[in-house]
Amino acid sequence: MSRQVWINGKLYSSEDARVSVFDHGLLYGDGVFEGLRSYGGKVFRLHEHVVRLFESAKAIWLEIPLTQQALCDAIDQMVKTNEIEDGYIRVIVTRGVGTLGLDPRKCNDPQVIIIADAIALYPSEYYENGLEIITVSVNRNHPTALSPRIKSLNYLNNILAKIEGIQSGCIEALMLNHKGEIAECTGDNIFLVKQGELRTPPLDAGILAGITREAVSEIAEGIGMDVRRVALTKHDVYTADEVFLTGTAAEVVPVVKVDSRSIGDGKPGPITCDLKERFQALARL
Ligand code: PMP
Repeated sequence: MSRQVWINGKLYSSEDARVSVFDHGLLYGDGVFEGLRSYGGKVFRLHEHVVRLFESAKAIWLEIPLTQQALCDAIDQMVKTNEIEDGYIRVIVTRGVGTLGLDPRKCNDPQVIIIADAIALYPSEYYENGLEIITVSVNRNHPTALSPRIKSLNYLNNILAKIEGIQSGCIEALMLNHKGEIAECTGDNIFLVKQGELRTPPLDAGILAGITREAVSEIAEGIGMDVRRVALTKHDVYTADEVFLTGTAAEVVPVVKVDSRSIGDGKPGPITCDLKERFQALARL
């Protein structure tokens, strides 16, 4: 189905929406992005996503040529224009056209792109039966080399981990940080349940500050659960009562096996299922 795509304030049909082969987003992965969801035509945590996008851009010395409010309005407009109810929105900011060299100062026209489309959901069996994941040999980017806080257009670190997961028959893969601690999955954050409390790696483990991670933490704290953002090891994961992942596309998805070890009784746990339902209710408010 043809969609209207927003590029720097102009609308193009999806067939005609293009960027140059000299765009540094293509040549070097030089740019940033966000993935958002709409529920019933309303974008979930729009402001938080736009703030994260601007912070990613700031961190790579890329100036987004519009205000946060103007970008929020444009995203809302694209959801309406494309008549999206439950959908997925991708916002991309590339460095723009430059020379074949690296120098970002040669790029004077960043491309801001908004694509609003239908959402491709994970199959329902993943939610009913839970996922099996493995830890992979590819470490998450070292934060002093390329901070995982930056949602950059260079996702090779995550893609290499995903390839390793897929080759082992897992659609999601768990990445460790440079210290051997649990970081996050290729496109999702991770939580454990242990003795009734939630545990999730802290931001300084070298992870993306997931917006779903934050929403789920708020929900859990709101019902009186402790949420501890602490360094975690593989041992903590193997011996957890429950494990689940959070992400914009996945929402809350149970994990029932990690590196061939069954988690808890090998079925999606009650706290995971409760938080999943509470998250879905919040997102659809
Ligand atoms: N970690 C990584 C590496 C991701 O790409 C994503 C998805 N954007 C997440 C975590 C989950 O973040 P969010 O809840 O904001 O979608």
